[in-house]
Amino acid sequence: MPLARDVAEEVAKQYGVCIRPIPLKRLDTHTGVWEIVDVPCGATLEAKCPPCAKRNRHLRMAQCREGWHLDQEPTITPDEPNEEQRWLIEFRADVQAQRDAADQAGQDTTDLDELIVGLDEEINAAGMRGNVLGRTVPKRNRSTKRRQDAPELPKRRMINSTLGRTFTSSDGKVYRPSLFVTLTLPSYGKVKDGVPVDPDTYDYARAARDALHFSKLVDRFVQNLRRVAGYDVQYFAAVEPQKRLAPHLHMAIRGTLPRAEIKQIAAATYHQVWWPAADQVVFEGDHLPIWEDGTGYLDPSTGEVLPTWDQALDQLDTDEAAEPLHVIRFGVQVDVQGVLAGTSDADQCIRYLSKYLTKSLGDSLDPDNQAQRDHAARMVEALRYEPCSPTCPNWLRYGVQPKGAKPGMAPGQCRSKAHKPDHLGYAGRRVLVSRKWSNKTLAEHKQDRRTWVLEALGQTAEQTDPHRYVWKPVPAGDANVAPLAVRLLRSVAERQRWRAHMARLQAEADDQDFSASEGRAA
Ligand SMILES: [Zn+2]
Ligand SMILES: [Zn+2]
Repeated sequence: MPLARDVAEEVAKQYGVCIRPIPLKRLDTHTGVWEIVDVPCGATLEAKCPPCAKRNRHLRMAQCREGWHLDQEPTITPDEPNEEQRWLIEFRADVQAQRDAADQAGQDTTDLDELIVGLDEEINAAGMRGNVLGRTVPKRNRSTKRRQDAPELPKRRMINSTLGRTFTSSDGKVYRPSLFVTLTLPSYGKVKDGVPVDPDTYDYARAARDALHFSKLVDRFVQNLRRVAGYDVQYFAAVEPQKRLAPHLHMAIRGTLPRAEIKQIAAATYHQVWWPAADQVVFEGDHLPIWEDGTGYLDPSTGEVLPTWDQALDQLDTDEAAEPLHVIRFGVQVDVQGVLAGTSDADQCIRYLSKYLTKSLGDSLDPDNQAQRDHAARMVEALRYEPCSPTCPNWLRYGVQPKGAKPGMAPGQCRSKAHKPDHLGYAGRRVLVSRKWSNKTLAEHKQDRRTWVLEALGQTAEQTDPHRYVWKPVPAGDANVAPLAVRLLRSVAERQRWRAHMARLQAEADDQDFSASEGRAA
């Protein structure tokens, strides 16, 4: 019934209900009953439906507001994992088991691998640190000479605080200024309306590498910022596409520094990518490395084993003349705005920060603008053979075995999202929030909202037994899952119920306010 489904979806959207809920089987260990429960797509995968995206945006705005002008040190205590986090972990474990089974049966695991990466990101986003399985490979010890120097910058003595300075005016008023900073990447050639004036000279190769390593540059900026500021600077930042399709960064910073110092830090910040060289094509077309079980990838003409990722890095370490694969810096355009707590300026910045979060980097394309679409296509082409990570199959093109090499790899066929038109090189998180931004993680903001609703409904958020539920994925086509239209309408009915209840509570509260003020007047 496609028609019913469309209507249900429209109604669901109006009510802000998830339109792509994920059915999961849940065993209640207290009652021994299995039931199918819908989890909003926004709680799991990265591609969120519009209502979930909107809700997430509002949660992000609340999170940004909460931390920006904090006047007391946040207390960071790891919380008991909540139910959402628990099911993420358990679901993650199930997917891992499925993946391993598929791998043993010699089946393609690409989709499951991708799902696992997505889940790991969500697990981190849900406020848990690290990887569920812990670090599986020991961290590599780089030789010290490859360690990047801190650039020449003024340095203040570090104090143990995350709060910015305050200023008191002559009439005793305390001001708590903060910053809103915008950082961009350098020019790759002249652009007009977001499109290169001369595509032939526009430096697509550099643009591609800059986009791939942008998040590392942001990390360096924060390190330098903290050194110069002399306190543990906290930030809430969003990575967004510019019209020319390069990522740029908006950052709300707690506390303030002179504008000139921010510009100085941005100018001095750089990041070196110490990866093997990827400028000389060694294998392409039909002339590609061959996989041999137990050995790895071989040169098709000589039968020589290609250097593994670790061997290539060792070689790089011992080569005195080696240059980094890439050095990334910010462009000269740096915008610094002072913002005071509780002003309309602050509100505007918060809205601005979350404005594009619901869109992917490639989404800002105007479908009717052919020149811009061609520009995006050239960018995707530049990214096609660029290694996106140590595990990228593109390393085979440059004569190196990717980290974790396995059969079936071929240059130009990396499945990582960095190469996709939706991401245009930037595969990192869109929102970057420092650990001590506020007292709450995003998951806790969500939890707050849930608790608030339950309390408003006169129910207490019961203390649930952490091991009460066991979650399992539902196989596709399971007959026990009701049709989508039915599930959407069920959610809408639930939402309607609590809206009506909230309206009643509000009316009661208004009545009480009214009689209270009447009482005072009398
Ligand atoms: Zn959804
Ligand atoms: Zn790749």
